[in-house]
Amino acid sequence: MRTGFGYDSHRLAHGRRLMLGGVEIPFERGLEGHSDADVLVHAIIDSIIGALGLGDIGSHFPDTDPAYKDADSMSLLREIVQKAGAVGYETSWVDATVVCEEPKLAPHMQAMCESLLSAGIRGVNVKAKTNEGMGFIGRGEGIAAFAVCTLTKTP
Ligand code: MG
Repeated sequence: MRTGFGYDSHRLAHGRRLMLGGVEIPFERGLEGHSDADVLVHAIIDSIIGALGLGDIGSHFPDTDPAYKDADSMSLLREIVQKAGAVGYETSWVDATVVCEEPKLAPHMQAMCESLLSAGIRGVNVKAKTNEGMGFIGRGEGIAAFAVCTLTKTP
């Protein structure tokens, strides 16, 4: 069995879609980034790469590579889950926390979990927290996400 941890943060900006866990969340701002900037999916990808001992998301999907411009992060997640499978690990569990002041994520939680499961993760739990008004998250400048995954060696 392997565990991995991932963290990511992105800045909120006008004129961008807000993608979290592969779900578009209605909000007046979205996350800035080279890809679709899905901070939750990026944290999960990094946790799986960490569990595999294969470095980090930047070494697999460099943000200097035009191929990943506006990339659908869910397709990168599917790729990493498949890569884990190819070396004999099932992505059996992911637990993640998104930290943002707004918008409220509770109404979208089920859709986000279903979306993440569709990438081949066997079980998932997503939590949402605010930062109690503190720091860059509290000021509404950005969103952060943390994720822990468990990979199980397939027989
Ligand atoms: Mg990122």
